[in-house]
Amino acid sequence: MLNIVIFGPPGSGKGTQAVRLVEKYHLMHLSTGDVFRENIKTGTELGKLAKSYMDKGDLVPDEVTIRMLESEVNKKPDSKGFIFDGFPRTTAQAQALDKFLSGKKTSIGMTLALDVEEEELTRRILARGKDSGRADDQNEEIIRNRVKEYTVKTAPLKEYYLKQGKLRIVKGEGGIEAIFQKLCKEVDNG
Ligand code: AMP
Repeated sequence: MLNIVIFGPPGSGKGTQAVRLVEKYHLMHLSTGDVFRENIKTGTELGKLAKSYMDKGDLVPDEVTIRMLESEVNKKPDSKGFIFDGFPRTTAQAQALDKFLSGKKTSIGMTLALDVEEEELTRRILARGKDSGRADDQNEEIIRNRVKEYTVKTAPLKEYYLKQGKLRIVKGEGGIEAIFQKLCKEVDNG
């Protein structure tokens, strides 16, 4: 089983690249943001709860997010592996993921970290907000809060995966195809 974390700040291109990696390596794409948005659309209790955090650009609490992620993985017992997109975002989530996967006799193979400058992130997210219709992509203050949440709570995970020897940093600026090729090289090198 090949499990990959695609990691990076909001607007770094995680979702775009995850879709391509999934296709090339025949993995399942698991985006926690997408699952939350789907729950918001269908009006579930989980969706209502997640929305109250997402609308402000805050992270959804760990306990809720971890439970949801585990249930999504359990829905796909035949998967050859997963691309975790937007998860983990805190140390507690990363530890829970390691424990959960080890219970399934598997683990994270590598973490691909996309590196993009902050000004470029805000510009990209605002541009995406024009088409995506995502409320959290359209307000500069919410975007800045999302980047702050990333910097404070999520960026420290680079150290977590570095210590495990799993961190691969890839410059996330330039064309989508060129970045994808760099990511594939990392995956192929193992
Ligand atoms: P994304 O689509 O990955 O940009 O996520 C959109 C929003 O969903 C984030 O700003 C958070 O509010 C919430 N979210 C997604 N993934 C997580 C996670 N792993 N932990 C906590 N909140 C999350």
